[in-house]
Amino acid sequence: MTDVFQYPLQPLVRKHGPQGYRTYESYKPWLRDEFSFRCNYCLCRERWFPDGEASFSADHVRPQSLDPDLVNVYENLLYACCQCNSVRGTDEVPDPSVHAYGELLKIQQDGTLTAESEQGRNVIAICRLNRPKLVTFRLGMIEALSVLAGREDPDGRIAGHYLGFPDSLPNLSRLKPPGGNTKPDGVATSFFARRQHGQLPPTY
Ligand SMILES: [Zn+2]
Repeated sequence: MTDVFQYPLQPLVRKHGPQGYRTYESYKPWLRDEFSFRCNYCLCRERWFPDGEASFSADHVRPQSLDPDLVNVYENLLYACCQCNSVRGTDEVPDPSVHAYGELLKIQQDGTLTAESEQGRNVIAICRLNRPKLVTFRLGMIEALSVLAGREDPDGRIAGHYLGFPDSLPNLSRLKPPGGNTKPDGVATSFFARRQHGQLPPTY
């Protein structure tokens, strides 16, 4: 069973570079793939929401209010669940392309999140990552996955339900960013392309 609540231990190296969309929500298919269909802040996955990707949106590293010039710039965007997005307000968050969130945040077995640096504590405070409902959900998920790990699941159906990739993966090769794509090779390594080639693991 993968460690679903392990934050990335390395800064994000973006594989996509779409440019020129006039609204930041237009970058959403790219962000879904870039962030592996998970919220940058709480690590909740599209699969864990009844409405999947509809419960996620594009969020800004530098908030719109602080830096209007970066509102529609892909490199300033990240993928977040709507709840984290709405509670974070207008504070700047660490850029995941610069800071490995795994160095900032640790999830404990009781479902709480801890940090050893001031920057990590700021992320927890800004996004309210120890909000009670989220801690309760996280603990429940940890416990459920622990039970699942010791249970018969011969065709992997149950594990796939919680830990598989979404059924609807974005086909990025069909998208034509108005300002081009500075990293066109990333499309060939997208999750959609990997599924087409039978290279996608059943869980992640
Ligand atoms: Zn979230």
